[in-house]
Amino acid sequence: MSIEEQYRKRAMELLSGGAVKMVIGYGRGSNAERRRPVFISSPEEVNRLVLDEACIANLSGYLVNEGLLSDEKRVAVFLRPEGIRAINILAAESQLDAEQIVIFGFDVSGNEVKALKGIHVEEFEDVIGAIKEHAPEMGNEELLEKIEQMNPQERFAFWKEEFAKCIKCYACRQACPMCYCRRCIVDSNQPQWVNTSSHSLGNFEWNIVRAFHLSGRCVECGNCDRACPVNIPLRLINHRMAQEVLKSFDHFAGMSKTQEPVLASFKKDDSETFIL
Ligand code: SF4
Ligand code: SF4
Repeated sequence: MSIEEQYRKRAMELLSGGAVKMVIGYGRGSNAERRRPVFISSPEEVNRLVLDEACIANLSGYLVNEGLLSDEKRVAVFLRPEGIRAINILAAESQLDAEQIVIFGFDVSGNEVKALKGIHVEEFEDVIGAIKEHAPEMGNEELLEKIEQMNPQERFAFWKEEFAKCIKCYACRQACPMCYCRRCIVDSNQPQWVNTSSHSLGNFEWNIVRAFHLSGRCVECGNCDRACPVNIPLRLINHRMAQEVLKSFDHFAGMSKTQEPVLASFKKDDSETFIL
């Protein structure tokens, strides 16, 4: 039995027995390479679920949709390791109760889809630990290396040019499971913290503010990259911030549901050299 068939069967059992009220997974998209999220709430619909190498979006963000978990019922969700890390962060930040989440874990290597053993988020700590030790390639290492070789002025010029393309559509924010605020700072206009028009300064402010908000929280799922209509390599910024956070604080985002947020905690013996 393929993993897709196994997971359809599991979804059928969970829905039929009332163990979950919904299964969030992938369904067919507009062409063979695309998959779209599907929200299955009856056993008759499980054949809509698809699981193959085209299932790349991190679906964890749908779990914090207003009201979905407020009845304390369980919801199942298809997640790759990045999505499982996101569940840990959302739980650590009190955005959901991990006990309500049933995970259909999977990973993709080349064209091969493999199931990840476990149902509850704490059962995947080994998988996440392995990623901390050997991060999978993002696919744009060449560009990252090129940016690393630049001096600060060249790097500034590179990002200025990239951010100049931004049209302030906020698709990156909407697609990011870590951007769950009901009202984002950029939507506030009394006072207006970040200019909403897409000119160079406002674009720079927006993208830098977002990168800071993601420091120590980004799970490198790439939802933002794929959502950006003008192809700004957003994940590279967040990846670089994640490297710094790992080096400075030995903090790898999403290790466990009780992990303290790195920028919202301190120890008395923390080095304060960054203040100088
Ligand atoms: S910033 Fe991008 S890569 Fe990081 S968690 Fe959000 S969507 Fe995923
Ligand atoms: S998705 Fe791209 S264009 Fe849209 S706001 Fe984000 S960075 Fe700008």
